[in-house]
Amino acid sequence: MFVDSHAHIDGEEYDSDRGEVVERAREAGVSAILNVGTGDPHSGSLERAVEVAEKYDDIYAAVGVHPHDARLFDDATERRIQGILKQTSRIIAWGEIGLDYHYDNSPRDIQREVFARQLRLALKTGLPVIIHSRDADEDTVAILRAELKETGRSGVMHCFGGGSWMMESVLELGFMISFAGNVTFKKAGDLRDVARRVPLERLLIETDCPFLTPVPFRGRRNEPARVIEVARCLAELRDLTTEEIGRVTTENFQRLFNVKLKDSIKPPVEEPDRRDPGIHRNIIN
Ligand SMILES: [Zn+2]
Ligand SMILES: [Zn+2]
Repeated sequence: MFVDSHAHIDGEEYDSDRGEVVERAREAGVSAILNVGTGDPHSGSLERAVEVAEKYDDIYAAVGVHPHDARLFDDATERRIQGILKQTSRIIAWGEIGLDYHYDNSPRDIQREVFARQLRLALKTGLPVIIHSRDADEDTVAILRAELKETGRSGVMHCFGGGSWMMESVLELGFMISFAGNVTFKKAGDLRDVARRVPLERLLIETDCPFLTPVPFRGRRNEPARVIEVARCLAELRDLTTEEIGRVTTENFQRLFNVKLKDSIKPPVEEPDRRDPGIHRNIIN
């Protein structure tokens, strides 16, 4: 049993075969997908992410404004997100929010301001946060400490790509750490060293699809069924089975996002009584 804790399957990349993508995930043992809405918040992209979660039982949604689009965040955006939150019970996280100094699609000062503002909004709603941090780890941690440290609230560092300092800093803040397909890449030795040391009870897995297709499927569109390759990689690093990584990360997902997945609460299987004296006698005879 596996959970894809971060996917973007509401996008047009999946318009022609979304149902099949979801079905393939189910067949592979993926029992839940957290679909994260991104894009221009005025364009209807966040509503679209929620629509997918309303349609499928095993898909949840997160809404928030990505650091790329921070320059588009305004009072109307805030009202819009609050309106969406009132209309559905499928939203289990605020995100993805954070800082991206790699692409710098929005000015950095605006990214920082919008990040802090959304953390405060998330606190008010009670939702855990999904954090995106690229080439901005020091500022990300500084803002998380300033806004969250006293509150005891946390979330997940998604698509983790940081080093030991980042890992320790976010663990100290109570965060979970989620690994995506990039942990399987040949050149990701340093990242795998970090992945080996994250406490099991803080570990999550994700695809971040359609991006970051794991080895051995690189070059193709990614999809939630591939989250198993991430689990397989972590299992090798930690000397566990792929199923054990699946089980632990599924439990972590339920704890962090406060959801109960149907398949995870199966009653214990009763062993048939093989000591039935009648049958026993027949076998002996
Ligand atoms: Zn991201
Ligand atoms: Zn993402």
